[in-house]
This record gives sequence, structure tokens and C-alpha cells, in this order.
Amino acid sequence: MVGGSGWTERYRDRWKWDKITWGSHAVDCYPGGCPLRVYVRDGKIVREEQSGTLAVVQAGVPDMNPMGCNKGACWGYLHTAPDRVTRPLKRVGERGEGKFEPVSRDEALKGARNEICTRAARSRGHSRACTFPRLGLAECLPLPS
Ligand code: SF4
Repeated sequence: MVGGSGWTERYRDRWKWDKITWGSHAVDCYPGGCPLRVYVRDGKIVREEQSGTLAVVQAGVPDMNPMGCNKGACWGYLHTAPDRVTRPLKRVGERGEGKFEPVSRDEALKGARNEICTRAARSRGHSRACTFPRLGLAECLPLPS
């Protein structure tokens, strides 16, 4: 039967896209940088797939194909998920309680800087300074040795 309605049509609709391109995920993961096929429709990611295009680096050694992880498999959905984080939040309850309140970006960066510097100071001997220019935290002072 061609066409359909209800769930069959919705299911078929999931498998439609305008173009297939390449991508990866900008997160601190390992091994990271996995080459993924990215399926795009109306400018949004609808699907990602491990590509399996990595070369064999040495005869007799298994290759890395297909490289990717379960978290990466759902990465594309996070771009439009209704419960994604769209602004900085600060925890106001106990850890794990799930209570947060919105804060400004400056407030979030200041809080992160203070927490990182405090923890770095506590681990003296392991950390000598904390500078995070990409996060706007370059003003963090070197810690005394
Ligand atoms: S698939 Fe997983 S390991 Fe690979 S880049 Fe994405 S998040 Fe990182």
C-alpha cells in the first residue's frame, strides 16, 4: 500500500531529509571527533550515523570503525529538544534535587570562576593557576606556590 496515515506516515516522515553532510560533536569526549553522517531537513538535524570511514592504521590492528558512542547518537536531537538548556542556570537546591534558577551569563561565568579558583586553591600543589580565556575567566590570578 502506497501512502498511509497515522503512525505509518509519521514513521515514514522520519526518514526524509534534504541533504546529507558531515559533522562531529564539540564536546570533551573520548575518543572524540568521530566522523558522522548528518542528515538535515529544513535546516535541522534529523539523524546522525557513524560513518565507518576511518583508515586502517596498521595491518593486523583492528580499525576504529565505526567510531561513535551512544551519547553522540542522540546529539542531534539535543539541538531542538524541548527540555534542552537554553540559558545559564544556577543550582539553588541540594545536588540532585533538580532545583535551578536562571542567571545572567556574567553571573554564571563569575560563579564558575570563583568555584574553579576556590577548588584550585584547595588542591595547592596540583594547580598553580587557573586561566580560562575562552570562558572570559582570564582575570583569574595565579595561585601562590
Ligand atoms: S560520537 Fe560520542 S565519542 Fe564521538 S564525537 Fe560524538 S560524543 Fe564524542
